Amino acid sequence: MLAIAVTASVIGAGAATAQASPGGGGTTAPGDPDVTSIQCLTNCIGPTTGVVKSKIRLLGTDLANTEVVSLPRADGTRAKDKRPQVKPSGVVIAIVRKGAITGPVRIADSFGQSKDSSVSFTVGTNAQLKEVQSQYRFPVRGPHTYGDGLGADRGHQGIDIFAKCGTPLVVAKTGVVKANTYHGRAGNYIVIDAAGVKQDHMYAHLVKRSPLKKGMQVSTGQALGQVGDSGNASGCHLHFEIWGGEGWYSGGKPIDPEPIVKYWDSFS
Ligand SMILES: [Zn+2]
Repeated sequence: MLAIAVTASVIGAGAATAQASPGGGGTTAPGDPDVTSIQCLTNCIGPTTGVVKSKIRLLGTDLANTEVVSLPRADGTRAKDKRPQVKPSGVVIAIVRKGAITGPVRIADSFGQSKDSSVSFTVGTNAQLKEVQSQYRFPVRGPHTYGDGLGADRGHQGIDIFAKCGTPLVVAKTGVVKANTYHGRAGNYIVIDAAGVKQDHMYAHLVKRSPLKKGMQVSTGQALGQVGDSGNASGCHLHFEIWGGEGWYSGGKPIDPEPIVKYWDSFS
């Protein structure tokens, strides 16, 4: 459930990034670097919680001249990333280094200025990360490539994951089967109301009907069916949708599944 919050937050950040103005390069000296938001990008326990080696994204003002990003260590020294990536937008991507503990990030810039953020980043344990990740499984259990995502100039409501017809599919997240039927476009498809998150997951174009029955309680990793090209599909693939809010055709709407499924793909 936390992983979902992470990616939702990352999507929100994209919009904020677009508005951020690049610092530096002008005739006036930049102000103190000021980090107003820290987001976890990889190996995330939550939106602002990661572990050592997590990639983090820093948003704020006057970050364009960032040279070092650091987090506190228990012994009073700093866990420093001396090669952070500074984007043209002024956003900074850094890595949580060994020994880092929860606290504000400190930015040191090329003007010799350094400043601690007003917000903190939480550094958790690998056990906590494993616990969060164990709740999810990437549904396509074989070699795969990514096709169209949400929108894609055709009102596409999900993401296409291409794999050989017959590749096993598993349940991405524990829940209850909400539908298991056939549709002219979606082909054989199944919808699972994921437990603990306000989300429905829809898997389409299955080779044949899923053995999972409507109303059934299913678990992460349970066999769900096989990749196919039933319905209106060009090539064997899983079309996967995530509906937020009240869910699939019950008042909710599709959200962008791409960062979420790619996150699952990264660890399972
Ligand atoms: Zn599709």
